[in-house]
Amino acid sequence: MELTGLQIFKYLPAAKKAKNTNCKNCGCPTCMAYALKLAKKQVSIESCPFIPEELKEKLTQASRIQQHEIKISDNLIAGGENVMFRHDKTFVNKTIIAIEVDTKDKKLRQKLEKIKNYSAERIGQTFKIDALYTDGEITEELQKFSTETQIPIIHNKQNYEIISGQNIQELEEQTTAKIKGGCNNIILQVEYSKNIIEQLTYIRRAAIIQRHAPLTYPVLVKIPNEFDIMQTCAAASRLICKYANIIVLDKVDNALLSTIMTLRQNIYTNPQKPLQVEAKIYEFNDPDKNAPILLTTNFALTYFAVASELEALPFGSYLVVTPSDGMSVLTAWSADKFTAELVAKAINEFGLAQKTNSRKIIIPGLLNHMKDELQEVLPDWDIVVGTIEACQIPDFLKQKL
Ligand code: SF4
Repeated sequence: MELTGLQIFKYLPAAKKAKNTNCKNCGCPTCMAYALKLAKKQVSIESCPFIPEELKEKLTQASRIQQHEIKISDNLIAGGENVMFRHDKTFVNKTIIAIEVDTKDKKLRQKLEKIKNYSAERIGQTFKIDALYTDGEITEELQKFSTETQIPIIHNKQNYEIISGQNIQELEEQTTAKIKGGCNNIILQVEYSKNIIEQLTYIRRAAIIQRHAPLTYPVLVKIPNEFDIMQTCAAASRLICKYANIIVLDKVDNALLSTIMTLRQNIYTNPQKPLQVEAKIYEFNDPDKNAPILLTTNFALTYFAVASELEALPFGSYLVVTPSDGMSVLTAWSADKFTAELVAKAINEFGLAQKTNSRKIIIPGLLNHMKDELQEVLPDWDIVVGTIEACQIPDFLKQKL
């Protein structure tokens, strides 16, 4: 972990009321000012001649890499994590989901076809299989497939040093030898076992907290081929949560892949930046001037839930999406990001009145309590309370129209 200014200050003469306190040799007016600058890397450690060895050691340790990034393709990176928990900051590079392929497999063609065709959409993101994994030969056919589909191949020896060991000690010894040999394109492979989560947690702690060099490389885990779909799903889910950087599966099953990719999407979304869509008026199915108008916030999950219902309707509609920092309806309301004034401002700025002859706006059912307030600031519009759940929208609109 990086040291804060206060943590650094504790080691300086001023904190210990020692000789040389605030001597200004470092060019800063006080030891505290120096500590704060050092924490931001704005001054050099050599500027103060009175830094104790213990602090030097801590600063050296803090400057070491926590987890190496290994490039799998132009837009696919394994590793690079720098926190233990997502809520500490955010996870950086999503767990790569790779499918194992064997060029001796008689059904390889069908498998590659399934890999190519797998695709799913969720909250504006497209899920695809990230990579192929093979222990065997990379044939011309496999290479051609990889080039055409832009799905990279992870292969031990040909492009990476995948180091596996019976236990962590063996893994450390082998990695240390490889580092000494000048190799840096290392992936650690941990055997799947009932202790897998303990092992991965140990490795991640060694990387993030202790910055123990041999364990600072991304970790790959192969899920046993004999696992059925449910076991594979459970194993993959655990590994995505803690702490595999690459998981390798044998099965190409749409339900399985969509389930684990949905989980991964939730974990690898930056909690400080909720997924959001642009605030504006969205049109569905070529709406005419009398089409119904619905209103919601710009939280991506809410938007896509409502949008998918509106898209499926046999008639057109408008959806007014207000700016709310990507918060869901009730959260936005409680954080003052969905006030009557903000809604009125958005509606006027978007020019809704010029787009439509209708003067009815359907608000989310969860904002029932805002109806009178909204009516007051939007006197030319009829505020109608809609449904709580997006899935109730079609029936609601069919009844109202
Ligand atoms: Fe404090 Fe060291 Fe700077 Fe002197 S040189 S003011 S002791 S930080």
